[in-house]
Amino acid sequence: MSNECKSGSCLCGAVKYEFDKTNLISAHHCHCIDCQKSTGSGKATILILPSQALQVEGELQFYTATAESGRHVSRGFCGKCGSGLLSFIEEMPAVRFVKAGTLDDSSWLKIDSNFYSSSAYSWSPIDEDIPSFTHNPDKV
Ligand SMILES: [Zn+2]
Ligand SMILES: [Zn+2]
Repeated sequence: MSNECKSGSCLCGAVKYEFDKTNLISAHHCHCIDCQKSTGSGKATILILPSQALQVEGELQFYTATAESGRHVSRGFCGKCGSGLLSFIEEMPAVRFVKAGTLDDSSWLKIDSNFYSSSAYSWSPIDEDIPSFTHNPDKV
């Protein structure tokens, strides 16, 4: 495994993934209501990767919801332990969104911007040191 190879897993380890860090497109905090509900927290921190750069081992279950944008977001989770690992937007099949907290080591990670600052709560405020979008940027 090279230094650039990053891995992650769900809590129980039934689902694992790997990608080469050089393929990382960007990383964001998302404070949208759906991320709050699905993570049980104030935000989801997500990595954006090209779909083909991500190798997943084990079986994910998916829950698909229509986002505020009208796009269909499928959120993948481990059927055994319930950890949310990654999601994708049906209208944007070229990229995957990986939940940063599932990385085995995320100490190297730098976050580029905040999405959905409009629904951030004071108990989980946006990071003021990076750019913010009130909703989603047009392009990710
Ligand atoms: Zn699991
Ligand atoms: Zn979100």
